[in-house]
Order: sequence, then structure tokens, then C-alpha cells
Amino acid sequence: MTNSTPTLQQAAVVQNPGENASIALRNDIPIASPGQNEVLVKLTCTGLCRSELRAVLAWGAYNSIIGHEGVGIVVKAGPEVPESLLTKRVGVKWLYSACNECSVCKRGFPNHCAQQLNTSRHVPGTLQQYVIADARFLTVIPEGVTDAVAAPLLCAGLTMVGALSRLDNELQAGDFIVISGSGGGVGPYWMKNLRVIAVDSGDDKRALSLESGAEVFFDYKTEDVIARVREFTVEGAHATIVVPGTKEALKMAPNLVRNMGFVVNVGLPPNGLDIPLSATLCTARGLTFIGSSVGTENQLTALLQAAAVGKIVPAIDVFDFSAVPTLIEKLREDGITGRAVVTLPQ
Ligand SMILES: [Zn+2]
Ligand SMILES: [Zn+2]
Repeated sequence: MTNSTPTLQQAAVVQNPGENASIALRNDIPIASPGQNEVLVKLTCTGLCRSELRAVLAWGAYNSIIGHEGVGIVVKAGPEVPESLLTKRVGVKWLYSACNECSVCKRGFPNHCAQQLNTSRHVPGTLQQYVIADARFLTVIPEGVTDAVAAPLLCAGLTMVGALSRLDNELQAGDFIVISGSGGGVGPYWMKNLRVIAVDSGDDKRALSLESGAEVFFDYKTEDVIARVREFTVEGAHATIVVPGTKEALKMAPNLVRNMGFVVNVGLPPNGLDIPLSATLCTARGLTFIGSSVGTENQLTALLQAAAVGKIVPAIDVFDFSAVPTLIEKLREDGITGRAVVTLPQ
């Protein structure tokens, strides 16, 4: 297997990040060799996460090869990697590595480790045929889950599970939760014991949100969402998960929940955008604001197991690698319903 690995590969590369960014499809990108604790993964596909826009628009320092929802086979192992990992089908996700020693890692949340390294940020991402991954943080994909179904669960799916888990001790069956940005195709499934109010825009996202378990859908472009949520819940929802990294969504969130309600933010707006929330109202209303980034490995394992038995079916559309530039444009326009998965040339 080792001998069959070529030296150059195809990759999608972000050029000139910022407002005028473009995506170049190249076939001259060197394939790296795995170092200590590292493996080389030959990818079959990768999901496209909305947070890739941060790299494209230069909202932070990212690798020019983006992507962090990759699925493939381990084809090479560096020193200190167990041989048994070779030929395993694995997921390469946003968390490339964490320190495993800080108090946050020891509590079981390496996804919030201050020392973490991230795929597509500190190291090249999954929009390439071969990617280097840290073997200690790989996810083995269980039988029964196709590559394309597994891909969006690695970030988008895990993010929703992680966010919801922050409310485990706060909500009860039958409570109302608003999913703002429900048309991403990974939301309502996991919240069956809650009454899900979906918020997004357009007929496609309405249909997808209702299909995947939301009780009602409000279109933020054509309806007064705050008023509609009030009508539907009388006092406001018990909690809301805010997916879009927009000022409008963040501003609306506290007004969707009742007093002593919870706002969980998973969106990633530009770094300079603060949470538009009155401190006095926050105090007087007893609101809790929670930030949540992806989730834990245990949560991902459970999620993949649920997908393996068909309990979770993310809404995916699979595209050829050549579609990447167009798909990134669509992401910028918020024009993707469900999840886009890209197959890599084999
Ligand atoms: Zn992501
Ligand atoms: Zn740590």
C-alpha cells in the first residue's frame, strides 16, 4: 500500500482570501509523509461546513486547503502509530489534536482545549486527496454508515449534539427549543423529546426542517419570528440554538426565549462581532448565554452509531470535486439546503 502512494495530488486551494477570494483546483500539491503519531489518510469524500467561509473571507488565519469533514482510509502510518490503524476507515475532523493535559481536556472536553490544533486551520484540510491526521484523535467510522453520510456528522452533526448536550440538565421533554438556521439538515432529528421550532428561509429549508422533525417553521425573511414564536409558545421558548453566525440571528435569540431561558451559540461570525445583548435585561430576565464548539468523541461515537442503525439520516447532496468553487459561492449566498458532500478523485 505504501508503495502505491503517488507524490502529487489534486486539491482545492483558497487563493487571495477575502472579499475577492477564489478557489483553484490544482493537481500539483505534494502529498505529505506522516510523522510521529500521524497517519496519511486517502480521502473518499468530505463535507463542506459553513465555517469554511471564515477561511475564504479571511476572518482569521486558516490553511489555504480547507475542509474538516473528511472520510477515507488510513494508507500510511508514522512512528508510534498502532499498525492496526492501517486500512481502517476513519473520519478527519475539526479537532486535529488537543493537549490532553489541561483541566478542560481532563474534564473530557478537548473540543474546548486552549491548546488545540484544528484541521484546515493549523494543518491542511480535507479538500485534497490525501490528508495528514493525528492518529490519537481519529474517529473510526462504524460499519453501516456510508462515507457520505458520515462526513457531515463529523462537524455539523456533532456541533448540534454538542450544543444540545449543554442543555441536558436544563430542559425537559415537551419543552420548546428554537433552532435558528434549521435548514442545514442536521438539526431537528436529535431533539425528538423537545418541541422544535425551526427558523430559516425559503421553501426548501422549510420542507427539510419539517421533514426532519420540526413542529413548525418560521421564515425570518417574510415573518416576524419573535412574534410568531411568542404566539406559539405563549411565554417564549425554553432555549434556542443559534447556528448562523449573523448579527441578526444573535440579536433575535434572547427575544425568542422566556425568562430564565438559554441561548446556545454555535455560529462563527467575524471575530469583531459582539453578542448584542443588554446586560440589564440579561440580569433581570435571568438569561444564560452558552458558547459551544463541536462536541466530544463520545458524542460523535454515539451519533455515528445512531446513523448506523438509521436513526439519523442527514440530508446530503453529493457533488463531484469539480463543483467545489461553485459550492463555496453557494455557501457565501447561504444557498445550500442540507449538507453538501464532495467526492475526491480516486
Ligand atoms: Zn465545521
Ligand atoms: Zn487541553
